[in-house]
Amino acid sequence: MKIRTKKLLSLALAFTCSLSLFASTPINAEAKTSKKAAKNIVVVLDPGHDNTHLGCHYEGFEEGIANLYIAYYCKNELEKYSGVTVYMTRYGFDCAYGANPDSSADCLTGRVNFAKSVNADVMISLHNDYDPDLDKSQNGAKVIIPNPNYKPAVCAKGMAVGKSILSELTTTGLNVNDWKMCPNGTGIVTRDSDSGKYPDGSAKDYYALINKSKSLGMTTVIVEHAFVTNDSDRLNHLSTPEQYQQLGIADATGIAKYYGLKLK
Ligand SMILES: [Zn+2]
Repeated sequence: MKIRTKKLLSLALAFTCSLSLFASTPINAEAKTSKKAAKNIVVVLDPGHDNTHLGCHYEGFEEGIANLYIAYYCKNELEKYSGVTVYMTRYGFDCAYGANPDSSADCLTGRVNFAKSVNADVMISLHNDYDPDLDKSQNGAKVIIPNPNYKPAVCAKGMAVGKSILSELTTTGLNVNDWKMCPNGTGIVTRDSDSGKYPDGSAKDYYALINKSKSLGMTTVIVEHAFVTNDSDRLNHLSTPEQYQQLGIADATGIAKYYGLKLK
């Protein structure tokens, strides 16, 4: 398991270096989705977790590394389209926002503030899931979107972009996950905080990344690509760089279709 992790790390490092070549590609902001030129869209990709705030790990799978792979592949694919600028909240394995091992709050706030600072039209947080009971029946993809409270337009945008991404993810062979935490059968879910409230008294979104973004008027969705605790998801979607590439391309295609972007 150690050797595998080491190999994965060196692969990821090599990949990071090679893809940094693409980071400074100039963006053609003159995309036309209709008769008049569309405005340039800013998309922030958020590879969930880091070396300080570890995600799920199981059978040699490390979520923070996988999410970074998917984000780089997604960025690379999305930059094939005109009229979009893509940023990532981290480009390496380390926490970019203070690395406090006792709390992830500052890190999450830092990610949201970064997205706001570059005027993100949307932030797509990239994750993978793990069933804490090792329930292998939980499988497939879902997108957690803002709830309808406080700023309904943020929810509406999250719903639309989330559906577009989920639809592309299913073309890779992933099922739609019926998450047992919030089951509704659609793979597009909201989750409310048990006690937190927005200023209008309505229930806050459970996830800090989503509720902090909403407070700033920004839409963030969390894409949970697959379940590492499901054997089929892990072996067929979360085991090789090529599989991560498939997921990243699916995310990018879903984002591009939502905005009506055209290939360069
Ligand atoms: Zn995660």
